[in-house]
Amino acid sequence: MSSKGKIKFYKRLDVRMALWYTVTFLTMIILIFGFLDYRFRRNLLKGIDRMLVDETKEIINVILENPETLNDELREYEKVASNRKYFPIAFRLLDQNERDFFSSLTLPGLVFPKVFPDHNRYRKPVHTTLSVLQGESPFRICTHFYRENGELKYIVQIATYLLPMERTIENFREHLLTAFFLAFIFGSIGGWFLSRKSLRPIDKITETTKRITASNLSERLALQGSNDDLDRLAMTINQMMERLEESFQKLTRFTADAAHELRTPLAALKGETEVFLSRKRSSEEYQEALANNLERLDFLTKLVNDLLILSQADEGKASLKIENLNFSELLKELYEAFNVVAMQKKISFTFSALEEVLINGDRIKLKQLFSNLIDNAIKYTPDGGNIGLTVQPGKCQATVVIKDTGIGIPTNDLHHIFDRFYRVDTSRSRLSGGVGLGLSICQWIVKAHQGTIDVKSTPQQGTTFTVILPATLS
Ligand code: ADP
Repeated sequence: MSSKGKIKFYKRLDVRMALWYTVTFLTMIILIFGFLDYRFRRNLLKGIDRMLVDETKEIINVILENPETLNDELREYEKVASNRKYFPIAFRLLDQNERDFFSSLTLPGLVFPKVFPDHNRYRKPVHTTLSVLQGESPFRICTHFYRENGELKYIVQIATYLLPMERTIENFREHLLTAFFLAFIFGSIGGWFLSRKSLRPIDKITETTKRITASNLSERLALQGSNDDLDRLAMTINQMMERLEESFQKLTRFTADAAHELRTPLAALKGETEVFLSRKRSSEEYQEALANNLERLDFLTKLVNDLLILSQADEGKASLKIENLNFSELLKELYEAFNVVAMQKKISFTFSALEEVLINGDRIKLKQLFSNLIDNAIKYTPDGGNIGLTVQPGKCQATVVIKDTGIGIPTNDLHHIFDRFYRVDTSRSRLSGGVGLGLSICQWIVKAHQGTIDVKSTPQQGTTFTVILPATLS
């Protein structure tokens, strides 16, 4: 079953998008059509009103021009006007006392309404719609008050059917309805295709991400090249995949390296024990063999402890026990302990702390950090060399510099020395008991203390490690 099949139809994004599109489209069409209908009706009515006003003016002209033959003229006019195919008219004339003095042939169903008692208010012709029985056409009536020198002289009432207009509107509405259905059908189909097309890349993203497992982490999502939101989503997923792949590779390398480092001493331990047990030995021989094995076990214990520290650091489980420390005192203690070893190698080891330096930190972790750095300096400095340990207090930080005149680190290796299991010279490092985890642990301890560690080195001249730690942790 496809992934889409599992999602309920109405919950699918493409269905919801198509629905939203259709609803918005329909609302817009209804509003536009409503507006058109309203404007169309208004304009038609205005046209009829204008025509009726013109007719009233014509009648007034007839009255004014030929007062003697008035009746004949009006009858003539009536004949023409009432026989029109569209908008035939009927009219009546009232004098200033609102007495009927001429009425044309009436239109079926028309009864002129009474003239308003407050007609003095009306300077312009007044238009009204007269509704009649249901099924019959309503009438549009125009009442014109003709005044001379401000005095009311005649009132002309004229009427016509609204039926032709109603028919035109009905016709127009039928067209609108057809257009509405066509727009609805094409709009919905268009909306559906549009949403399907725009969401198709999501199907591809889903399919590809489903295929990705630990064994094919190198697979990437194909970009459309449109640089739109979906392309950016694919790019972000690709970047995430890259980071995952990197972490996974690191993890695999770490596990393989750890297994490799454990295997050699374990094999030696096993081999030597087997050889030793193959025949009877003297007690001195037993003692020597056990001492050798103890040395290997010490190495293994240190290695396992280092691995444990790093894996806890990765998991974020390793926490610091922060306390107020006399930092210069702590470093002095380390100096005194390591000076004994340095002296054995005839290395001149100096310590300088001009002032007392106090910081907040984890005593055990900081001891481990500087023990590693001093131990390395002694390990990689030939007999007769120099090592300096300096502590400088800063405004809100402490700076420790460990400078040696040892073998140095080649520039190409300098970027990698903090990587796990990285050793510049594997054979020499192994001889000195190192597996390349020391500096990784140092880097983690410095980071955990929100500090920085920096290294500068020149081969055959010496190496300088600079550690900066904040005086108080935030
Ligand atoms: P190791 O336990 O092998 O010493 P580290 O992580 O402590 O591992 O150091 C990584 C590598 O960095 C070492 O193998 C060594 O080659 C190099 N290195 C570290 N400190 C120094 C130093 N003070 N002088 C020269 N090389 C150093």
